Amino acid sequence: MSILVATNFDDAEWRAWWPQLEAALPGERLLRAGDVRDAHDAAAVDIAIVANPPRGALQGLPSLKLMQSLWAGVDKLLADPTLPAGVPLARMVDPAMNETMAETVLWAVLSLQRGFFDYAAQQRAGLWRQQPLVRSNELCVAVLGLGHLGTCAAQALVRQGYRVIGWSTREARVDGVATHAGRAALPQVLAAADIVVDLLPLTPDTRGLFDAATLAQMRRGASLVNLARGAHVVDADLLKALDDGHLARAVLDVFNTEPLPSSHVYWSHPRVSVLPHIAAPTDPRSAARVVGDNVRALRAGRPLAYLVDRQRSY
Ligand code: NAP
Repeated sequence: MSILVATNFDDAEWRAWWPQLEAALPGERLLRAGDVRDAHDAAAVDIAIVANPPRGALQGLPSLKLMQSLWAGVDKLLADPTLPAGVPLARMVDPAMNETMAETVLWAVLSLQRGFFDYAAQQRAGLWRQQPLVRSNELCVAVLGLGHLGTCAAQALVRQGYRVIGWSTREARVDGVATHAGRAALPQVLAAADIVVDLLPLTPDTRGLFDAATLAQMRRGASLVNLARGAHVVDADLLKALDDGHLARAVLDVFNTEPLPSSHVYWSHPRVSVLPHIAAPTDPRSAARVVGDNVRALRAGRPLAYLVDRQRSY
């Protein structure tokens, strides 16, 4: 049998991924799209490793038993109507990625706590002005989404001394975190937080979550850190909340359109910090091993890890 690597990688990405996948999948036959020349080749493919595969790339593979995503978020993949319906889809869950995301969350929250974004602006303005000190235990941070990334980030925030509250659909238990579940609990979570960190997947329920009504439920002077998906945010409503002074700052790693267009107001807004979707990149060095584990599980007839629930879209 063979494994099709179906991606839109450029040359540099192939160079980074191919040796790692080969090392993690000894004895496996790895193919690229061009290697599948006829029905015989197609029938031999039982696993597809996917990362933004071109539309239709996974059709005509009658033996396909697993689609393994290299990305943690599968919203784009699930939006592809050509994705085979009955084939299990596993997403990327990598402890190293969880730690990377926790670092980004800590950076954002620490920078907001200590005013480091403002000091960077002061430097550009040549302004020497010291702000009052705020301690970590004086701030409440809400982590929306207590999955693999959210739990790791929430634990890092607890270790750093913040008061941390969390939100998910089902009751979750995370040491040191006051957890809340369900849509009805969201206003209470938002109203309690000085900083709201979004680590939710993009689903029909979370698309446009941060609209005017939700943003109004946040504390006056609070900040939003979106490291999850740009489509969670209604940009015009966020900008209004910032311009009205209701929100202090937005730290955004993800956008409705990526790359963020050069004309977008976020780039120059004094209270928006922009990152180019780097909060927690998939690292081939560790992620290829996650792929290897799931491929071996399939080959050995063991349960597959990190399967996506297509009803829930995550
Ligand atoms: P995950 O393990 O599937 O966790 C998702 C969490 O969100 C769960 O706690 C889930 O609650 C909660 N949730 C889902 N829908 C909800 C809703 N409508 N209301 C309340 N809670 C809801 O996902 P993950 O691995 O932590 O990743 C989260 C997302 O981060 C990914 O989907 C991806 O979009 C994004 N991401 C971004 C980057 C980046 O570099 N910026 C990198 C990786 C991932 P239940 O389990 O209780 O249902």
